[in-house]
Amino acid sequence: MAKHITYKLTAKNYYSPEANQAYMSVSQFKDFLNCEAQAMAKINGDYEQPMTTALLVGSYVDAHFEGTLDVFKAQHPEIFKRDGALRSDYEHADEIIKRVEADKLFIKYMSGEKQKIFTAELFGASWKIKIDSLLPDKIVDLKCMRSLEPVMGVSFIRHWKYDIQLAIYQEIYYLATGKRFETFIAACTKEAVPNLEIIRIPQWRLDECLEETRKQMPHILAVKNKNYPACRCSVCEYCRQTKKLTEPIDFEDVGFKNEEV
Ligand SMILES: [Zn+2]
Repeated sequence: MAKHITYKLTAKNYYSPEANQAYMSVSQFKDFLNCEAQAMAKINGDYEQPMTTALLVGSYVDAHFEGTLDVFKAQHPEIFKRDGALRSDYEHADEIIKRVEADKLFIKYMSGEKQKIFTAELFGASWKIKIDSLLPDKIVDLKCMRSLEPVMGVSFIRHWKYDIQLAIYQEIYYLATGKRFETFIAACTKEAVPNLEIIRIPQWRLDECLEETRKQMPHILAVKNKNYPACRCSVCEYCRQTKKLTEPIDFEDVGFKNEEV
């Protein structure tokens, strides 16, 4: 059941364990779809996704557009060489930033208010969202990708569920403000020659994504509220770390995600 949340969200505590217990977020929702056991371990503070250079390059570009690159640099001494110069991955991140900032359309879409937080009740949960660039009539999310190529035969937007993310953003923003905005991904790539696009998610797809989310939420909330056991996918890093073999599995099941539920 939906209950009123009194936990006050700020930029500082947005990613805290308390905030993740009190609120559903798009990344938490996607965690539950990938592996319920890992999602619960993250919420309980038993597992943290390991940081990689690829993720950190993405965060570097995010921090630039947020206007917090100085803070980011102070918090991440590992991005510098001994002589104080940036490591090559982050020099390249500066080139990506320069490339997209030379594009008028990209800059226009990234010129909104940054990292605005909104909350609302939806599908039995309190949700929190943080919008990268909020324009007077648009919601824009920045993605710094390896490439813009399809993944396993589908657009990277569908594969990484960025359409679901923007469907939730549009709906929570609407519930919080009464205004329904068009949604876009501002995408750039970490390729040697960076690619860039502004990608519109059409309303029909946002509606479809919201409907899928609505159907999945009762089960996810039952697991989150510990009314239903979390299913182990058996192949993700968390499941591999904590795996205990109890009996042989069938040869045709090996390497596949356990999708019992
Ligand atoms: Zn797993």
